[in-house]
Amino acid sequence: METNKLPCRYCKLPVEKGDRRCPHCGTLNPSMDVKRSLIWTVSVIAVIYLLLYLFQ
Ligand SMILES: [Zn+2]
Repeated sequence: METNKLPCRYCKLPVEKGDRRCPHCGTLNPSMDVKRSLIWTVSVIAVIYLLLYLFQ
């Protein structure tokens, strides 16, 4: 069982879930899902805009 292994977002080789760097290609946060981080960033920006709109 390799439940803690996730494919690197760059080279697709298996990396440990908590690894900060891919041991194969050196990409930072290799297990971080690009799509999820994009959604997270967009939602943070949306909240900031909402706060700016409410408190102007
Ligand atoms: Zn990699």
